[in-house]
Parts: sequence; structure tokens; C-alpha cells
Amino acid sequence: MAAPEHRASVMAYIGLGSNLADPCAQVRHAMDELAVLANCTLCFRSSLYATAPLGPVAQPPFVNAVVSLATALTPLALLGALQGLERDHGRVRDGTRWGPRTLDLDLLVFGELQLQLPGLVVPHPELDHRAFVLVPLAEIAPARLLIPGHGHLQDLLAALGDQDEIRRIPDGAPSVVIAKPR
Ligand code: ATP
Ligand code: CA
Ligand code: CA
Repeated sequence: MAAPEHRASVMAYIGLGSNLADPCAQVRHAMDELAVLANCTLCFRSSLYATAPLGPVAQPPFVNAVVSLATALTPLALLGALQGLERDHGRVRDGTRWGPRTLDLDLLVFGELQLQLPGLVVPHPELDHRAFVLVPLAEIAPARLLIPGHGHLQDLLAALGDQDEIRRIPDGAPSVVIAKPR
């Protein structure tokens, strides 16, 4: 039997990241595009943060942010829309995990849903220990937000260890921001 369609609006949280081709502008532009996504209403945008890159690949620092989106899309349709926006921003997938990219859009949380499909895991499996996700998320979500399978946002934040640098970028800062070297 086909899964029922999600018609009621669900609060989703989307993580944005970029470290190529003017990352601040990429992220701000993507927020504007998310604000006009069909069947979605953008609720809040976090500040932008300059963050150290993840993983073994030597690459420029990242700009990260989070938005909340009330959506009537199914999780898979929303992921498809996010991947379409990544392509529009010239994202090239060459198979390198955690490599440099013009735009990365991760579906972090989709209401109370827990989902494990080959191409979509919700909540995003890495979110519980990433400062560059949790800090902007805490700017726009309730401290008591329950992240299914992980716990309350405030507890995840409190449990963050010593993290690589994450620095809030002042509003209105020029597009190109050079993060302090590690
Ligand atoms: P990470 O997922 O650790 O942040 P990444 O963002 O660099 O790494 P990508 O190369 O962008 O990883 O995506 C790899 C695959 O992850 C995509 O093909 C997508 O289908 C899958 N995926 C699974 N769950 C999610 C999710 N919640 N949001 C976005 N993509 C997801
Ligand atoms: Ca990611
Ligand atoms: Ca991704």
C-alpha cells in the first residue's frame, strides 16, 4: 500500500553550508530561494556562522546557517527540492565525502518523524554533535525542541565538547568572509 501523503504542515529544519564561490552570498541566496519554495513557508533564518571544515579534505572554511520551514511536502519531495537547489547553485558531486561545495542543504529535522531510507535519514544522523548545526538551530528553535532519537536541543548543546571554531558573522557583513585560520 502506498504511504499516505503528508498534507498537514510540518515544521522542518534545514541546514545550509557553503565554502566555494562567495559562501555568504550562496547561503543568503539559498535562504531566499527556500522562502519561495512551493508548498513551504519559511519561518525563521539563523545568523550565518563561519566554521572550520569537517573531515580530512584540506579546503576553505565554511559558512553555515539553519532555517525553519513549515512544509506540506513529503520528506522525500523536500529532499528532492533541496537537491534541486544544490544543483542550481552549481553543486558538483564527485563522490568525495565532506569535500568543498557551493551549497549543501541537509534536512535536519522533519517534525517528529524518524526515517531511515537508503537516501534519506531523518533526523540527520550527524546533527547531535555538530556545533555548526546546533548553534544556529538554537537561535531559531525552542530550547526544548525534541529531536527524535537524540533528545532535547538544549541538552545536545550542553553536551557539545570542545569544538572547532564557530564564529557568528555579523548581519550585513560583506559577502566574502575569511575565517580565522585554525
Ligand atoms: P553529511 O551528511 O555528513 O553532512 P554531506 O552533506 O557532505 O555529509 P552529501 O554528499 O551532501 O553529504 O549527501 C550524501 C547523501 O546523503 C545524499 O545523496 C542524500 O541522499 C543523503 N542523505 C541522507 N539523509 C539526508 C538528509 N537528512 N539530508 C540530506 N541528505 C541526506
Ligand atoms: Ca552536510
Ligand atoms: Ca548534504
